[in-house]
Amino acid sequence: MNIILIGPPGAGKGTQAKFITQKNNIPQLSTGDMLRYNVANKTSLGISAVKFMDAGELVPDNLILDIMKERLKNDDCEKGFILDGFPRTTIQADGLQAILNELNIKIDYVLVLSVEDDVIVERMGGRRLHPASGRVYHIKYNPPKKSGFDDITDEKLIIREDDQEATVRKRLKVYHTQTKPIIDYYEPYNIVYKIDGNNMIESIKNEIDDILN
Ligand code: ADP
Ligand code: ADP
Repeated sequence: MNIILIGPPGAGKGTQAKFITQKNNIPQLSTGDMLRYNVANKTSLGISAVKFMDAGELVPDNLILDIMKERLKNDDCEKGFILDGFPRTTIQADGLQAILNELNIKIDYVLVLSVEDDVIVERMGGRRLHPASGRVYHIKYNPPKKSGFDDITDEKLIIREDDQEATVRKRLKVYHTQTKPIIDYYEPYNIVYKIDGNNMIESIKNEIDDILN
């Protein structure tokens, strides 16, 4: 089962990807998590990417396609995968198609989560992240058991640098202009499912379960 998750920043892609991973035993490939790992470890990719991330802009397509090309060839992708935050431009969608053709596989589901911009801005103010695992919480809508700490490891949660309102507004603009057009890219294949991301986390989870069954 090969799945793409599309939605604006804060739509709930990471939250739902974790549920899909647990239920279907396929990996979540989050380009955002991969980039943050590289930034934290000061790799050459991280050093090139950080200025775009902090500005709320997209990291250049060639850097993203290079990492995904390698990642998709990993053995753990053989049973399927969830692409979370990739592709984000039509150039990335074309690049992904070339990789998939080479591996002789195809995308089965494109799940699109929609949420209005103002709701997103409010959500992002309360997002907390466990960077090592990519687990996300919200201070109001999905609080950790102990405030400020990850449920599983008890390590400290962080606030993402790019979750401040001005950067979120920039990222939303980038989503509307550069990422949304890729939904049309997948429409002709009849694999696009539109989901109302304003609903409760649990109800979205159930809706996705139904689609994937
Ligand atoms: P969110 O989950 O809030 O949508 P991500 O964690 O996916 O955000 O991405 C954070 C930042 O990392 C983006 O604003 C962008 O700078 C960079 N990034 C992540 N994925 C991609 C991608 N596929 N293409 C280009 N830049 C990306
Ligand atoms: P994305 O990966 O699309 O950027 P996240 O999964 O990180 O989005 O969710 C963004 C924030 O909103 C997190 O703090 C998360 O706990 C919270 N969240 C996710 N889904 C919902 C929802 N359906 N209703 C309210 N808050 C949500």
